[in-house]
Amino acid sequence: MMGPSHALSGAAVWLTGSWALDQFADYHQSPLALAVGTAVCAGGALFPDLDLSGKVTRNQGGATVARTFGVFSLFIAEVMEKISLGVYYATKLSRDPRRNNGHRTLTHTLPFTALVGWGTTALCTAYGKWAVVSILFFMIGLALRGLFDQWAERAGWVIVTLASAAAAWFTFANLPGDRGYPMIGLAVGVGCFVHILGDMITKAGVPILWPIPIKRRMWLMIGLPNGIALRTGSKAEVIVLRTALTVLSVLATLGLVAPSVLQRFNIEV
Ligand SMILES: [Zn+2]
Repeated sequence: MMGPSHALSGAAVWLTGSWALDQFADYHQSPLALAVGTAVCAGGALFPDLDLSGKVTRNQGGATVARTFGVFSLFIAEVMEKISLGVYYATKLSRDPRRNNGHRTLTHTLPFTALVGWGTTALCTAYGKWAVVSILFFMIGLALRGLFDQWAERAGWVIVTLASAAAAWFTFANLPGDRGYPMIGLAVGVGCFVHILGDMITKAGVPILWPIPIKRRMWLMIGLPNGIALRTGSKAEVIVLRTALTVLSVLATLGLVAPSVLQRFNIEV
């Protein structure tokens, strides 16, 4: 799946989940908390592809998401790709093929998803406001890059970075401290998980079972069979899937805000 589809699926899942919590569990969020969770989940849904590095010294290549903060995020992607490849070789079994890059390995596993979610929460708990503002900055950047890819492409990474910093600071200044922190870790983790599911419906698949060995393979790629798998960049992805995710997001948002708007309307009329 391409970046925008990943980001959109993260946003759709967070909004739908929030709507369900609101409806069935009586768990209500402020509009700002909702917006932050949605942005962080959309950003988290791009995070696993930060393992697709380019040529950092020549400032070339890399996944779109790796270019969010220019050469800085390209460098992070380079490091993540090398660590992933290291873990691949450290844990590979005899039937696992040789590889020369770590894309779609470690960052596309469930233990990594859990670690990132837990790590985010731990950072927020340990370092408080500075961790929160840094994580928001990073995740909002990824979300902007994914959700508004054409704008981000035209604007360039400096503008994206400045916009993320401004959004992170505004959020931080307005978000009450008692509720936001655990939700940030959850949103990052859910985002990563949604990314894995998104890659599973494409041909290449992901090593979802790692680290469970199966038939002398630790890194078995699991995805839909070729006949029904989604082709990256196909009409089914770009038109059908994205439209469905957008409609879902809009409906969930309406479901979340409509009751309070209607209430206000009744009082005023
Ligand atoms: Zn991926």
